Amino acid sequence: MLVLGIVLWLSSMVTQSCTSAIGPETLSDGELARHYNSRYSIFDEPYGIDFKYHNYEQMSRFLRATSLRFHNLTALYSIGKSFQGRNLWVMVVSSSPYEHMIGKPDVKYVANIHGNEAVGRELMLHLIHLLVTKYGSDPYITWLLDNTRIHILPSMNPDGFEVSKEGFCEGSQGRYNARGFDLNRNFPDYFKQNNKKTQLETEAVKEWVSKIQFVISGSLHGGALVASYPFDNTPNSLIKVFQSYSSTPSISPDDDVFRHLSLTYAQNHGSMYRGEACSPSQPGFKDGITNGAEWYPLTGGMQDFNYVWNGCMEITFELSCCKYPPAQDLPHYWEENRVSLIKFLAEAHRGVHGFVIDENGNAVERASVKVKGRDISFLTTKYGEFWRILLPGVYRLEVYASGYTPREVEFMVVEEHPTLLNVTLHGTKKWTQSDVWGHTTTERRHTAMSSPHLDHPVQEPVDTDSIVFPNS
Ligand SMILES: [Zn+2]
Repeated sequence: MLVLGIVLWLSSMVTQSCTSAIGPETLSDGELARHYNSRYSIFDEPYGIDFKYHNYEQMSRFLRATSLRFHNLTALYSIGKSFQGRNLWVMVVSSSPYEHMIGKPDVKYVANIHGNEAVGRELMLHLIHLLVTKYGSDPYITWLLDNTRIHILPSMNPDGFEVSKEGFCEGSQGRYNARGFDLNRNFPDYFKQNNKKTQLETEAVKEWVSKIQFVISGSLHGGALVASYPFDNTPNSLIKVFQSYSSTPSISPDDDVFRHLSLTYAQNHGSMYRGEACSPSQPGFKDGITNGAEWYPLTGGMQDFNYVWNGCMEITFELSCCKYPPAQDLPHYWEENRVSLIKFLAEAHRGVHGFVIDENGNAVERASVKVKGRDISFLTTKYGEFWRILLPGVYRLEVYASGYTPREVEFMVVEEHPTLLNVTLHGTKKWTQSDVWGHTTTERRHTAMSSPHLDHPVQEPVDTDSIVFPNS
């Protein structure tokens, strides 16, 4: 009976839906009037995306037009506003845009964190256009949107973009937000205390990723051509950073997976895999990938934050040697990145996923899940879901939740299909609030990250921003 109950519960889980916590963008009065005016329709206008740079108004118009025309495939929402009041738009593209699909992963791209690194921002608009226009005709894209919910934030720094200059390949005009802060140095840091004053844009992203359990993420930059993976920071960057570009790698417990994900992008890219240096003064990268800290360490980066705090596998993609190349080069960049952008997101379906449930088949929310030997823990969703990207092999999953006996389950991952693993926890009265599971999320993550090579004390902050780096 119990087995049958679980099966029925799981089958109901995959068919039921929940309302997204973040609602769709509402139309302005003018748009509503035009939309419902019988003599005018948004569908009278041709739908497309030019190879040119779109300022904030133009980008917003394209996103709104897309959400109107493809309302069954897209949902537009704002996670907050920039310092100057511009919306931080996120476009969801999925066959279930307004609902989290239970058992199916949420994934994301974040572009234009540095306002003058413009290629990723435009590629995100082209990616949205590709996904919505190919759904139903391209089998791979149809499968991806049927099984994945893709969230795209084309510009995390719209204020910086507005003051950036097309054709400026280097320099920092527009890199920072309107208050002069580098947003990719503005996140909490595992290795060092980050004393930078937190910014609106950073807070918006932190709240966003705390609400949605993203499985995989790409952070898009410019000024180099490489896929750079965690860790970005290291306990000893003060010593190493002044020596040369070639610092000591800061290896994460998921190094094999990060290398695989980075290679997936680089090898499907038109030229990244060659690893050629952008200029004689810059390094080349074997196979087009690098450990972040080995390139140069930084404090407060977004990708380490995603990984350590949220268990989300984020990689930084440097897409172009020139930060803000002429618009005429955009077709070249789109062609180089088109396949990589799609294949990378599909990697969310590699490894293990499943549900943590109790003896009655009810979801166990906020259970702490960890793959043994990979000391980054992450939490189940309100539906008891979890995901972990893993390469083929045999692993043990450790599951803990307040009020339940901890469990350890062995499982196997094969190349061809993701492993579905459902874990039943049995209640116990032995655990109390003062036990380890009563810790806050952050405390628990840091408690979990206790393998010897990660067990460093937080050092005094190092102001790596005072050193001029050309990239990222
Ligand atoms: Zn950057």
